[in-house]
Amino acid sequence: MNQHPPAAMSIDVEDWFQVENLKSVVDRSSWDERESRVERNMNRMLDLMEERSITCTCFVLGWVAERFPDLVRRIASSGHEVASHGTNHDLIYSLSPEEFREDVKRSRDVLEDLVGQPVLGYRAPSFSITDWAIDILQELGFTYDSSAFPTVAHDRYGTLEGMSSGVPVSEIRPGFHEICVSCLHMGRRGFPWGGGGYFRMIPYGLFRSGVRRILSRGNPYVFYIHPWEIDPGQPRLSGLRKSHAFRHTVNLGRCERRWTSLLDDFTWTTMRSLLDDWLSSRA
Ligand SMILES: [Zn+2]
Repeated sequence: MNQHPPAAMSIDVEDWFQVENLKSVVDRSSWDERESRVERNMNRMLDLMEERSITCTCFVLGWVAERFPDLVRRIASSGHEVASHGTNHDLIYSLSPEEFREDVKRSRDVLEDLVGQPVLGYRAPSFSITDWAIDILQELGFTYDSSAFPTVAHDRYGTLEGMSSGVPVSEIRPGFHEICVSCLHMGRRGFPWGGGGYFRMIPYGLFRSGVRRILSRGNPYVFYIHPWEIDPGQPRLSGLRKSHAFRHTVNLGRCERRWTSLLDDFTWTTMRSLLDDWLSSRA
């Protein structure tokens, strides 16, 4: 039996050196010379999901799609939803609207060419979403964004007009929805409970009980992870700020086991089917 409300699994498909936390020591011009590990790590994740007959949503970076087209084809042919993570992983508010449009359009075009299906979902690099970007996403044919956390403070996370505090899915423009990455509300505070460094730091049993709590309150659940998070063998860089190095590397060696436990402990679906479920429950 499917669990209700649903839980959506999402993967931001990017390489280890494209992460915001490493930007101070990784120049954009060096990407092509670095050891790419995204294909290997992503194939491992696809294997783990295939063994369990799980489908998810993959927000694929255009840069990755242009270099690893077979990986994108495998994602699609395994039944996963292919969505966009932009092309170059720039924070949105560091771009002009025109630059943003070009970045997103390029990723959409390469992904649609590879999978032969419309790409409807978008996730901003480092969750750096802004209101003007939503207008451009809608113009480009996207129907949902998943780049916001409800009510959680973080130095880089954006917020959007039309979102209500604590509500996991909001129609922020007619026909366009924001699907928030999950937070756990305890008292008046919200804690990010949808993945990232938090998932790797909190003891797994505690994390799982938080997910159960979110679902038991009648809210859908959205989780995100990156291929590099299950790769403890990735190169380590020197010269990083301590807090950034910690955020990037904490518990990498345990993450694959944690993630497979999470896959086993809940029933997972794609972002699109979570959204469809949400809409039909309100129709
Ligand atoms: Zn990313």
